[in-house]
Amino acid sequence: MQYHIITVGSELTLGLSVNTNAAFIAKRLGREGFTCNCQVSVPDNLHLIAKAISESLVDAHGVIVTGGLGPTADDITREAICEAVGCELEYRPYLAEVIKERYGTRNNPLPEITFRQAYLPSGATAITPTIGSAPGILLDKGGKYIVSLPGVPREMEAMIEHDVIPWLKSKFSNGEYYRLRVLRTTARTEASLQEHVEDLMTASPDISVGIIASPGEIQLQLLARGTDENIVSRTLNEAEAKFTERLGNIVFGFDDQTIEEVVGDLLKKHGLKLALAESCTGGLASKKITDIPGSSEYFLGSIVSYSNGAKESLLNVSNQTLLRHGAVSAASALAMAAGAREKFGADIGLSITGIAGPSGGTADKPVGLVYIGLYHKATSYTNKFVFFGSRDIIRLKSANAALDMLRYYILDNFEQPAGDTS
Ligand code: ATP
Ligand code: MG
Repeated sequence: MQYHIITVGSELTLGLSVNTNAAFIAKRLGREGFTCNCQVSVPDNLHLIAKAISESLVDAHGVIVTGGLGPTADDITREAICEAVGCELEYRPYLAEVIKERYGTRNNPLPEITFRQAYLPSGATAITPTIGSAPGILLDKGGKYIVSLPGVPREMEAMIEHDVIPWLKSKFSNGEYYRLRVLRTTARTEASLQEHVEDLMTASPDISVGIIASPGEIQLQLLARGTDENIVSRTLNEAEAKFTERLGNIVFGFDDQTIEEVVGDLLKKHGLKLALAESCTGGLASKKITDIPGSSEYFLGSIVSYSNGAKESLLNVSNQTLLRHGAVSAASALAMAAGAREKFGADIGLSITGIAGPSGGTADKPVGLVYIGLYHKATSYTNKFVFFGSRDIIRLKSANAALDMLRYYILDNFEQPAGDTS
């Protein structure tokens, strides 16, 4: 199925809100094998919304609209659907009951406008909200599909998962099956990842392979399709095995697994306690680690030692080291890692020191230069990186690189060898 996404809201077209709904829908439906061919945002304007819907129905099998389903006067997606497909709004008494229940005021009269949400385009099926009060809309108009969902991300996401995907699958039971597997890697660039797997990328006609870059991570996406569900699954598993064997430990996880989750699992598995010392990342690596519930089992704490003084007084980095090598150096990174380990009584100390920019770079030490240090018992390592990008991106890449260095250290020293790690 090929579909379009229309996100409704003047806040989006004015650039006041970031359109996260379109990304969520395209990604989630992509996993089911549905192809998004167009994404557009339109303001809260009846004719513009209706026009966008009509055009989508000409070019695609269906359209998913978010926003404009609330009770206020600027919520006009219901009317726009009617204008686009030439139907009327119909009152659905049971939706009025749902709305009363949602607002929790069965005995107190609700403002009349609230009940605008009990009207649906004729012929539509309502999606009863489990969060919020706005019903979603499913409409099959002669084999073209309109899905209209609330703008609030949590409400929209619940409906996509529980109602929209099963409904679309029931409409598109054309015998085509899709399976997607995402291999998440810490390759530095798309080109470097492609070099490793170039010959495998075109080896199987039943698999499409995509390489997708996001800051601090490159993903390899494998999509298998065919008419026999078992063969599709087998083809995908075989392709995944080939790619993971080739890539070895460059692949840190699959599908939704994050690097912080993977590193957390490894630390837990081997009973290792971690402490951090962060400079240019300002606590970002620690934030990522503590994003994982239960991280207190393996994460003891972090020192954000931004100034030289803090590096000296809180981490015992010697004045001599700082003067001779500078704060952004292998020697300082190592001393910071050792200091964090000591201070927290951890097994492993991990440190990040670098120049996030945009200013502060020199010919010797350019913006993006980052040293990461790791200290464990009598073993210590440092790695030097030069990252490109904005301040935010350099910080994100630095935090991910530190977590990845820790991952490699644990794999190399605590796990069985797992193939090529080049
Ligand atoms: P409500 O019942 O809250 O009025 P609605 O369906 O009318 O829901 P909107 O009023 O369009 O939805 O949006 C509600 C909120 O959802 C907005 O304030 C905005 O924060 C968020 N939102 C809307 N569209 C998007 C989008 N495309 N991406 C991310 N957030 C969005
Ligand atoms: Mg609204």
